[in-house]
Amino acid sequence: MVQALPSTNRQSELNAEYWSLTPRSQTTEQLSQWLNSLADRVIGGDRIGREEAIALTEIEGNDHILLLCEAADRVRQACCGTMVDLCSIINVKSGNCSENCSFCSQSVHHPGENSPIYGLKSPEEILAQAKAAEEAGAKRFCLVSQGRGIKYNSPKSNEFEQILETVRRIQAETSIKPCCALGEITPQQAQALAEAGVTRYNHNLESSEKFYGNIVTSHSWDDRVQTVKNIKAAGIQACTGGIIGMGESWEDRVDLALALRELEVESVPINLLNPREGTPLGGAPVLTHMKRSRRSLFFAYSSQSKFCDMQGDGKLLWENYKR
Ligand code: SF4
Repeated sequence: MVQALPSTNRQSELNAEYWSLTPRSQTTEQLSQWLNSLADRVIGGDRIGREEAIALTEIEGNDHILLLCEAADRVRQACCGTMVDLCSIINVKSGNCSENCSFCSQSVHHPGENSPIYGLKSPEEILAQAKAAEEAGAKRFCLVSQGRGIKYNSPKSNEFEQILETVRRIQAETSIKPCCALGEITPQQAQALAEAGVTRYNHNLESSEKFYGNIVTSHSWDDRVQTVKNIKAAGIQACTGGIIGMGESWEDRVDLALALRELEVESVPINLLNPREGTPLGGAPVLTHMKRSRRSLFFAYSSQSKFCDMQGDGKLLWENYKR
């Protein structure tokens, strides 16, 4: 039963009361009250603490996870509504990347099997795919490139110019919103993208600061954070999330969610690792449906962002759902 919330202080007392029991030892009724009090706080604009977030990850058992579903759905309805925002992406340049992200088959350090290598696609080809995505109902269309980032001339400066021109053409010839994911960028480059018409930029933190060094060593977590700050300073929305299933702990997932909340990113893409043969994470186990659900529900509570996007290989998601 959802209780009326008399005041923030009273609410804190209530939470302290429920917090004295771990979620595992709470009765169903106690857990329901605790979850709903947290949901009320999030909906009211309050932020849940790290320990509360970790407690959410300790909820187990189908009945209790269903309670979590119900409460997280209240958060979703209040913060995001019932609309689904469809977006589409195109890999404008692929393979031979200088970086060593363990999950990625485009890295020159561990090229995955069946990973294509090609240079920057022509504006015409990109524009044609933008139109096809618009026709299929997508509202956004993201131009994604391999490379550390245009800040490091990867993609190269002349390629960046071509991408800017392509963005302008998408703006002029379609009603789909162009987005970009071009790696690390400077404040000036972010400004150029904003002026060309880019309203959202994808740059993930991938994981917690603590776990990050286990999956990438060629650039730092702080580098990624700086690019997110540069994007936002230029007035571009940040589409920033991470990947789940790389061997990180629940604490790492909590820390990722809290870091995203701290950065006030507008969109949170949560990717499910698709282990690609040939990469260091090629043999990683695929998360089960219940585990995927738990992390989704947890992010709905913790990130407080407007959108919580689910991304991943469609076939993998479906096969995983059936388990
Ligand atoms: S920077 Fe991007 S393209 Fe390059 S290895 Fe990392 S994820 Fe892959």
